[in-house]
Amino acid sequence: MYLTYDLHTHSTSSDGILTPSELIIRAAASGVKTLALTDHDTLDGIPEATATAKLQGINFIAGVEISVTWSEKTIHIVGLNIDTSLKLLHTELEKLCEFRNWRAEEIARKLASCNIHNALEGAKALSNGHLISRTHFARFLMHSGFANDENEAFKNFLLPSKPGYVQGQWAELEKAISWITQAGGQAVLAHPTRYNISNKKLRTLIREFKAYGGAAMEVTSGRFGGQERIAMANLAVKFDLLASAGSDFHDPKNIATELGKLPLLPANCTPIWYNWS
Ligand code: AMP
Ligand code: MN
Ligand code: MN
Ligand code: MN
Repeated sequence: MYLTYDLHTHSTSSDGILTPSELIIRAAASGVKTLALTDHDTLDGIPEATATAKLQGINFIAGVEISVTWSEKTIHIVGLNIDTSLKLLHTELEKLCEFRNWRAEEIARKLASCNIHNALEGAKALSNGHLISRTHFARFLMHSGFANDENEAFKNFLLPSKPGYVQGQWAELEKAISWITQAGGQAVLAHPTRYNISNKKLRTLIREFKAYGGAAMEVTSGRFGGQERIAMANLAVKFDLLASAGSDFHDPKNIATELGKLPLLPANCTPIWYNWS
């Protein structure tokens, strides 16, 4: 049995492969009944996803995944059920996208100094006029023969200490949470096991996240194993946070993050949707 909720997905409006409509249609066909689109630092895909969800009979949740810098680490905060008419949210996300544009030029400059040319043009062509993510650079590196797959492109060029890495300067944790709550939404700590930090530091992060008004943490994520799920459920209970669940779907080729395949939440935690109408 799989969850019928998927509260973390991406479209071509950020670094996903499917358009918002294609994503909704695939989700509906995969048995998902409630889907959130949570593109990185943009709300651009939401109008199209809302319209297609209506036609497909899917319960659609407007969302976003905000890039945050916390203790020199990049952390992702998902916002769910946000009112996308809040101007503040658009203005602040726009600033993050401006940083993305600057960073893209820096990444391309760094890659050029290792004899990889035209990376900015290549990444831009793959982003179809939407924001530029490291994922677009990874795909460019793959298509140009510098890596066999996206993972290898990240590992060899785009992760910290690699030649194409540029330090992120994203939103402050407290601010990202406040934009989400001001938009009437719920803030969710995304994929908590993916930050390469000690257990102690993860607890500090969760404590701060909760103190700033965070509502939930992801207990089920596309790439989590059973042990991670149990550990995250226990942390959610301990810190009195609700439990969220999302595949982090980007690409139909990645079977680990496929839609409609999320396992149920452990019984000790309270799902974020427990009081959704
Ligand atoms: P950005 O927000 O532009 O820095 O890009 C971050 C995105 O890159 C994440 O949301 C993932 O989709 C992707 N990503 C990060 N690390 C990896 C990795 N090691 N392998 C493949 N994709 C990654
Ligand atoms: Mn991504
Ligand atoms: Mn993320
Ligand atoms: Mn994501």
